[in-house]
Amino acid sequence: MSIQREKVIPAKYIPDVGSYVEKIDGKDYLITNDAMHTFYRRSKGELSPFFLGLRDEKKLFGCRCTKCGLVRVPPFLTHCPDCNFAPTELVEVEQVGVMNSTPPITYFATSLFQHMAPYGRGRVIFQGADTALSVNLYTTTGILVPGIIKKGTEVKLVFRDNRIGEMTDVFCVPTAELSKEQIEKKGLQESEINWESPVEPELPAASQEDTATYNKALAEMKSIIEEMNTNERARKDIAGWKRDILVKTRGGEFAIIIDDGDIKLEEEAPSSHDFVMVCDDPNTLLDGLAYRGAITDSVINNNLWISKNMEFNTIFKLDRMARSVARSKKV
Ligand SMILES: [Zn+2]
Repeated sequence: MSIQREKVIPAKYIPDVGSYVEKIDGKDYLITNDAMHTFYRRSKGELSPFFLGLRDEKKLFGCRCTKCGLVRVPPFLTHCPDCNFAPTELVEVEQVGVMNSTPPITYFATSLFQHMAPYGRGRVIFQGADTALSVNLYTTTGILVPGIIKKGTEVKLVFRDNRIGEMTDVFCVPTAELSKEQIEKKGLQESEINWESPVEPELPAASQEDTATYNKALAEMKSIIEEMNTNERARKDIAGWKRDILVKTRGGEFAIIIDDGDIKLEEEAPSSHDFVMVCDDPNTLLDGLAYRGAITDSVINNNLWISKNMEFNTIFKLDRMARSVARSKKV
């Protein structure tokens, strides 16, 4: 009796044998289903000392050429091509390094990486290494926006608490955001870093005019959010999502409460909150909710600050709700 095993290519993706006639620019062409096989076996080095070092020992390894002494990180060569293929040896390098370029930031990732976004991705030359390692980058100061990490910024390697032996087991944060002890500690883990108290941007005191602007914007936001709450498409956008958001703007504070399909604006600060949103001009948020520009853009452009990087997801959902309401009006 044979056991039905799963195949690399599922059967539903394999076309039937056959041909058909297709008309292209008025001419008939015979189109035939055919195949080109490129099966291959691969190893991405999962069980190599480099990945096991990250996972089990919280160490960063490179390889040093026994002749020229060049240290390559990661250790991707067993023999040095510059030295007539002299053997290389495994060496540990330091966990502090410098950005060798300004990293681009990914805000809208593919589904595979969405749980990690927004993140920077850039190349770091660690002390003791001659080549750069590509790593993900984060900040502890709230949302990652351009300007926080640049070419030349000193960064520290941080290890995830749960490591599986992949490149995403580690990431970097600027050393300027860490204590001396944290910078010096080898194998610093994410749970040893304070992610919960980023420095909020300060808001100037409100003038009478600011208060009037705030009150007007607040009333409009309240009515838009009430509309969102009765819109089926918008409600779907926040299905299963629960967040209490404290919003601070010049002129006043209020709360946006998201609760599994329900959304409401409360005119006083909540007793506790999941994250803080600070936006100097309340009209910035109002415009986003009214679908006159994306709130995510305001975050990226530094006009609206959020206290937790990962809450970019919630901002994205608010944008979707604004779009859902706008689409419903078109139909
Ligand atoms: Zn060499």
